Amino acid sequence: MKVLKFGGTSVGSAERMKAVARIVCDGERKIVVLSAMAGTTNTLVEICDYLYKKNADGARETIATLERKYWGVIEELYEAEEYKQAARDAVRACVVSMRACIKELFTIYEEKEILAQGELMSTAMMQLYMQEQGVKSVLLPALDYMRINKNNEPDMSYIRTSLNDMLKSVPEADMYITQGYICRNAYGEVDNLQRGGSDYSASLIGAVIGADEIQIWTDIDGMHNNDPRYVENTRPVRYLHFDEAAELGYFGAKILHPTCIQPAKQNNIPVRLLNTLEPQAPGTFISNYPHPQDAHTIKAVAAKDNITAIKIKSGRKLLAHGFLRKVFETFETYKTTIDMVATSEVGVSVTIDNTRHLPEILDDLRQYGTVMVDENMVIVCVVGDLEWQNAGLESRALSALKDIPVRMVSYGGSNYNISFLVRQEDKIPALQALSRELFG
Ligand code: ASP
Ligand code: MG
Repeated sequence: MKVLKFGGTSVGSAERMKAVARIVCDGERKIVVLSAMAGTTNTLVEICDYLYKKNADGARETIATLERKYWGVIEELYEAEEYKQAARDAVRACVVSMRACIKELFTIYEEKEILAQGELMSTAMMQLYMQEQGVKSVLLPALDYMRINKNNEPDMSYIRTSLNDMLKSVPEADMYITQGYICRNAYGEVDNLQRGGSDYSASLIGAVIGADEIQIWTDIDGMHNNDPRYVENTRPVRYLHFDEAAELGYFGAKILHPTCIQPAKQNNIPVRLLNTLEPQAPGTFISNYPHPQDAHTIKAVAAKDNITAIKIKSGRKLLAHGFLRKVFETFETYKTTIDMVATSEVGVSVTIDNTRHLPEILDDLRQYGTVMVDENMVIVCVVGDLEWQNAGLESRALSALKDIPVRMVSYGGSNYNISFLVRQEDKIPALQALSRELFG
């Protein structure tokens, strides 16, 4: 069985929901994972903001506007009044749950309850649409099988047992529809897998049912070889290794949520990125096996903004043992993740993207040496078959950047990546130069 996930814009209007239905009704039984309609989760976040600020009127008004928007969609989506009424009832139930959260003491529990309503609405509407179309589809409530443990990690054995039992209890269905993003936590409370978490849901579902394939449907024909916002004539990459996709996702390519990769990779389930606006396009196929045609090639370039570089020049016996440990421990103390590292005999440079604790980190690091900071930097990451024995690929990337000041280079950390740190203002020229040199 395949798992197909559709993002917010793919279910963003009645018309788009109908297009999803056309794609999924091909006679093959499958699990369809849906996000909330585009914009809904942001609106739900806004409602929570009002409630944290004790502005109940602001929240009520925003809920009412949201409800009206759904009524418009319902009017367009269904033919029969009976189905329109059922959909309005389903949306109304979610609105009632939201209003029940308007209380004096608004906490994270109420917030998570509100944030869950978007996926509950989109799936209820799709389920009713399938029924109206005569498709035997079954709604699988994610809150009954998707669960995270006390460390906020998916509880795989619980998810595996619950979901497979649920599937066994309704074997005659043509199609299963379920919510992405939402789950329960170790205490049984409504929770979620963090913003953008629907991809993760699809991957976890694929992993526990041993799916043939996980498909992530968005509005672009796969992962592109460079950022189409800054570079002309980018092309979709046909095949990627999971590790390449992980690098690209982490370093800026927005298409696949980075958390989605691990469960699929570990269970050896390929992920296909497809385009709802062009369902026949081949998209990007991501698996554990490198495609033979791809040997010795560079696949793609991505960039990650808002990077801060910190250089620590050791005061005394340079890079004496224990120096790096102390430096890394400082970042660990402040739960700040390091992205890039470059070392030399006299010092070490690291980059971070979370500067919440920067002042404390700098203060602590000054015990170990002279500290210098460069803000507004960008990591430009080049991904491909960069195993060290393949001569020539890193030199092509470097020569593309011959006119651009490069603050750091990181190579050899994986077989798939070489990263450069450049100034924010050099990002677009760097991406363009790399495209010219590497992809012609
Ligand atoms: N609806 C959620 C969000 O907007 C989850 C998702 O779309 O993946 O973050
Ligand atoms: Mg999304």
